[in-house]
Amino acid sequence: MDAEVLVVGAGPAGLAVAACLKDWGVDALVVDRSRGAGDSWRGRYDRLHLHTPRIQSALPGLRISETSGRWVAKDDMAGYVRRYARYHGIAPLFGTGVHRVDRDGRGWRADSDAGELTARQVVIATGYSNSPVPPRWPGLDGFRGEVLHAAEYRSAAPFVGRDVLVVGAGNTGAEIAADLAEQGAATIRVSVRTPPNIVPRQIGPVPTTMLAVAMEYSPSWLVDPLNRLLQRMILGDLTRYGMPAAGAGVVAQARATGITPTIDVGLVAALRSRRVVPVAAVDRFEARDVVLVDGTRFAPDAVIAATGYTTGLDPMLGHLGVLDDNGRPVVRGRRQLPHARGMRFVGLTNPLKGQLFQIKLDARSTARAIARDLQR
Ligand SMILES: Cc1cc2nc3c(=O)[nH]c(=O)nc-3n(C[C@H](O)[C@H](O)[C@H](O)COP(=O)(O)OP(=O)(O)OC[C@H]3O[C@@H](n4cnc5c(N)ncnc54)[C@H](O)[C@@H]3O)c2cc1C
Repeated sequence: MDAEVLVVGAGPAGLAVAACLKDWGVDALVVDRSRGAGDSWRGRYDRLHLHTPRIQSALPGLRISETSGRWVAKDDMAGYVRRYARYHGIAPLFGTGVHRVDRDGRGWRADSDAGELTARQVVIATGYSNSPVPPRWPGLDGFRGEVLHAAEYRSAAPFVGRDVLVVGAGNTGAEIAADLAEQGAATIRVSVRTPPNIVPRQIGPVPTTMLAVAMEYSPSWLVDPLNRLLQRMILGDLTRYGMPAAGAGVVAQARATGITPTIDVGLVAALRSRRVVPVAAVDRFEARDVVLVDGTRFAPDAVIAATGYTTGLDPMLGHLGVLDDNGRPVVRGRRQLPHARGMRFVGLTNPLKGQLFQIKLDARSTARAIARDLQR
């Protein structure tokens, strides 16, 4: 199959690029390994609502319905993504995973489940949170409790009355811990290796991720003291409940490590009520026990590893010299590398202002750049 533009991935990023390309009169071939638009959202845990407000989460050219409220539920988001594809007349080829992309003259060739796909331009939109990072602690194989990655977590129901360790206090780990506390797990510990910057979801009427739009380009020495003050005033001193303080401010931490703040959607209340107890990082497993780096040991019934994701791009693109050491593309949006002209990436960064908002911006500029390249 040959196309002018191949878009790999029919999540929000791929669909947004395809929709913007239509504005330039370009019909892209969009392929996706899943079964339908919105699948990446449908499969997430039940409690999930967007952390970015509705108006900051919409893709180019179609609003999210007001009936979804300010904080859109994950199934409403899945419905929106499906509607978005229909609205823009995009019919992705589902069930079509792309396994490898190579140069093909001045264009690209993709090895896919539908055979060989060729195109002059290719957009990689396979998702920042593509592949769960499996936990790899020493002794885990011999652990007799249940172990799952946060990507497999759907609800607290299987954990009611049980002793659960959540590993990781990023956005996913924090929300799962809150969910477990609200739904009746007996004991909930959250293991913290990198102390998070916990921030409220909104400050007064203003969503935090909207303030982040301005912060993204501000010097950290200027905005982080203010952030710290607001965190203290609104959430209080969380070290009183055992949560270690972050080593750097919100913006400094995001720039140095790529770790965005943990938006509070229930963790702080659970810490205050002592339903969730922070503990040190996991060192190893020994039979029924988890052993922490501070030597503490206990025997949870279940361990939920909120240990993050990778882009999973290495097998597909690793040979092209377009990824950094973490497997993330070194350029994004309209930019391209001199040795990989005609290959662009959308949705593969994690900015403070939220990925969906960045996708909206990058989809437009990427489509414009592609349309110009095709005219040359
Ligand atoms: C739990 C969670 C909550 C989030 N909440 C927010 C939020 O509140 N606000 C916000 O702005 N962002 C949020 N994000 C981040 C981001 O906006 C979403 O993950 C969003 O879905 C990203 O869109 P995407 O198209 O880049 O990736 P995805 O939605 O992951 O879509 C990628 C698509 O590519 C397909 N694909 C992957 N690999 C291949 C392949 N090899 N071949 C073919 N197809 C492939 C997948 O099947 C999928 O359909 C959240 C992310 C997570 C995980």
